[in-house]
Amino acid sequence: MAQHMRHVAEDAQLTALRSEVRRFLQRERESGSFVPEPNSWITGWDPTFSKRLAQRGWIGMTIPPEYGGSGATLVERLVVVEEVVAAGAPVAAHWVSDRQIVPSLLKYGTEFQRRLILPGIASGDIYFAIGMSEPDSGSDLASVHTKAERVEGGWTMRGSKIWTSGAHESHYFIVLARTAPLVTDHRHEGLSQFVVALDSPGIDIRPVLSMDGTHHFNEVFFDDVFIPDEMVFGEIGDGWIQVTSELGFERSGPERFLSTMPVLEEMASVSRAGTIDHPSLGLYFARIVTLHQMSLSVNAALLGNGASDAEAAIVKVLGTSLEGDIVETAASVGYPTDANDDRLRLVTERGLFTRPGYTIRGGTNEILRGVIARALGLR
Ligand SMILES: Cc1cc2nc3c(=O)[nH]c(=O)nc-3n(C[C@H](O)[C@H](O)[C@H](O)COP(=O)(O)OP(=O)(O)OC[C@H]3O[C@@H](n4cnc5c(N)ncnc54)[C@H](O)[C@@H]3O)c2cc1C
Repeated sequence: MAQHMRHVAEDAQLTALRSEVRRFLQRERESGSFVPEPNSWITGWDPTFSKRLAQRGWIGMTIPPEYGGSGATLVERLVVVEEVVAAGAPVAAHWVSDRQIVPSLLKYGTEFQRRLILPGIASGDIYFAIGMSEPDSGSDLASVHTKAERVEGGWTMRGSKIWTSGAHESHYFIVLARTAPLVTDHRHEGLSQFVVALDSPGIDIRPVLSMDGTHHFNEVFFDDVFIPDEMVFGEIGDGWIQVTSELGFERSGPERFLSTMPVLEEMASVSRAGTIDHPSLGLYFARIVTLHQMSLSVNAALLGNGASDAEAAIVKVLGTSLEGDIVETAASVGYPTDANDDRLRLVTERGLFTRPGYTIRGGTNEILRGVIARALGLR
């Protein structure tokens, strides 16, 4: 199973890019443009920061020049993503567009859709949300009830989605819906994807507040929302294949092991000051180095001959467990009374509030362990 877990060396060009991104982030931090936060790729919504990244060509990097991008490699994109997530920079506004929509549009989108959307993603102006989960369909995604029915010139949609991150601030979302009745023995058939403008008539976006009182999630209702034929995404009936084909990229990226790096850095800084001494800190950095290499090799394989779902699942299970361990260690060591006290307390509290989501979003660890077990031939 682990045939793709091979060492990928970082060449001089990638190292230079990494240094450039670090210098940029340091300048931004020093100018007060952001304060490092754990989980910033989900909760750090700042379109002005996204625009500044875009001006450097660091959003939609893999978009070919004819659609407004620079045609960079996926590994170059990973270097930028590792740095911005580790720095706790506010990258949530463009996150879904950059990670998910770019590769999906390049693979399944029509020429019309690519020209409509890709230039706006590369310039940091178009933000997307994901409309998959429903109140009774999370892990069992194939059971979605939202329906799209054929009408003249397009489709009309009824139903609802839940846990839709950032829908209240995004321009579009990509929706998985039933376009043919559910047949029990062929549950993955009859599903299709649509690109839906979030300001379409008939859409009602209602906030679902997180436990710290912030508005990040939404429930989105469709009351006969018209979707023109041009916004059907990929092929009608191929929704399941399309959704699952991108999961490897979604599950093996740096955001699955670096979300709590600001907490670890704060702990390390307090530790250097001699106020706490926790033997796990070095081990956590060692686990991050290992996950960095695993993530890089799985992504390189996804681009070439492909990596299995299980390999990406291993990165996500190990990575998100590590993210949680870091926060729990920070909470357990207590807060020393030196100058770093408030920062460590702040990032730890933010981490504790967001920690439950790390092992749920993008497929729960229980589900992913099932994927790994099946690949190992276990039942
Ligand atoms: C921070 C965050 C952001 C999110 N953003 C989005 C978004 O933007 N768009 C979107 O569509 N969704 C989003 N989600 C939703 C997410 O995809 C779902 O929460 C996830 O798929 C789990 O579904 P569920 O919540 O319905 O839980 P359920 O599927 O009901 O699972 C409940 C529990 O049962 C376990 N379980 C379920 N089935 C099995 C099984 N077969 N074997 C073993 N255990 C099982 C699960 O592991 C879990 O512990 C987000 C979630 C979080 C936490």
